[in-house]
Amino acid sequence: MIEIRFLHAFNDNYIWLLHARGCVAVVDPGDAVPVLDYLERSGDRLCAILATHHHGDHVGGVEEILARFPVPVFGPALENIPGVSHPLAGGERIEVPQIGLELKVISVPGHTRGHIAYYGPSLGSDGAVFCGDTLFGAGCGRLFEGTPAQMQESLARLAALPASTLVYCAHEYTQSNLRFALAVEPNSIAVQRRCEEVDELRAAGCATIPTSIQAELETNPFLRWDEPVVRAAAASRLGHVPVDAVETFAAIREWKNRF
Ligand code: ZN
Ligand code: FE
Repeated sequence: MIEIRFLHAFNDNYIWLLHARGCVAVVDPGDAVPVLDYLERSGDRLCAILATHHHGDHVGGVEEILARFPVPVFGPALENIPGVSHPLAGGERIEVPQIGLELKVISVPGHTRGHIAYYGPSLGSDGAVFCGDTLFGAGCGRLFEGTPAQMQESLARLAALPASTLVYCAHEYTQSNLRFALAVEPNSIAVQRRCEEVDELRAAGCATIPTSIQAELETNPFLRWDEPVVRAAAASRLGHVPVDAVETFAAIREWKNRF
């Protein structure tokens, strides 16, 4: 049975650890220090590094970790990440045999050109997806390298996973994202309730991640392009009725950039 743990890095990054039988695979080690500390403290053996995209807060620690522990490094083929031994484009299945881990790779461009997510249908009891900076708690990543159409398609791909799937994103942004979600859907009971839950968690110093696909479908304005209220909010930003999901998504994303 694989257990999922996390380490904090920088202000609000999570480095996810997949742990079994005294071994760990690490997802998005932006900083080597907390990972090396963890390995020393726990005595666990590192068996793989998984990267979702090339930003420094996700891969900045890879080379330093590799210098100490030469392990396979999985990462996006389209991006230039030092140390990647297994370049991935999406659609592959990967294995980390030491911990009995099998993951499907999903291509999710938009935040960056080659961004990938790792989906484990049988991780935990409900499945888990590691989606880096694509889908956040009540939000989504900025479009640094991709188009709104790409990002909307990527988010739709994640939204189509089983609703019970737990979502392990790379940042603790849920609380501020919910302020925006409430501006988009001020009358949503689901958003209001989630604001209260998340405020309590943060006040107690707890993580709001993982979230679930179900919770995101109910409260994340960046997955709710078909909802009349979200479409109306997009229309008032655009000055016309959005023609499709992409235009709705683009208008909401643009609004969030200035929020
Ligand atoms: Zn990023
Ligand atoms: Fe990031």
